[in-house]
This record gives sequence, structure tokens and C-alpha cells, in this order.
Amino acid sequence: MQCPECQSTHVNKNGHKKGKQNYICVGCGRQFIDCYQPHKGYSEEVKRECLKMYVNGMGFRAIERIKGVHHTSIINWVKQVGELLPDAYEPDTIPRVGELDELETFVGQKK
Ligand SMILES: [Zn+2]
Repeated sequence: MQCPECQSTHVNKNGHKKGKQNYICVGCGRQFIDCYQPHKGYSEEVKRECLKMYVNGMGFRAIERIKGVHHTSIINWVKQVGELLPDAYEPDTIPRVGELDELETFVGQKK
């Protein structure tokens, strides 16, 4: 059992809620139930790895193949955190509209 908030496995049982086992995280105090689904979409770790690959010069398509993350997600992340990557970030590397269109075309053909 893992805390959805801090990923700590140091959790205690905390009674029942609506007939389901309730847990509480010792580390951060987060309460959650047995069947809680912590991740909608991708984890921060996957996100970081994808961004690192991108910063190191990999294309969106390559990252998508390797990590199984849809390239539009990666593009969004790059836009979101572009300012936070002072070492490698170049304004020119944000994909232009033309490149995005190419990607869409590529994905459309792949079937
Ligand atoms: Zn926690």
C-alpha cells in the first residue's frame, strides 16, 4: 500500500469508509482508501524523464516510442516547464506550429 500523495509505503490502517478499508499516511497525513487510483495521466517521474530526454535532443516521436507517452503530452510539458530549464532551454526549441502539424500528419498515417 502506497500513499498517493508522497508515495511513502509507511501507512497505517485508519478504520473503514463506506465499507472500504481506509488508510492514513504516516509521512504526510493523507487519508485514502484501498482502491484509490493515484495517477490520472502520467506521474511526475515519467514527466521528468521525458523532459530530460527532450532537453538532451530527442524528438517527441522518439520519446513517445520509448516511454509510451503521447507526444502532445510531452509538448505540453515542454511548454509548461520551458522556463524552468535554464541550462538547456533555448526558445527556438519550442516546436513551431508547422512542426506540430507534421507530427499530427505522421500520427494520422501510422494507423
Ligand atoms: Zn504521504
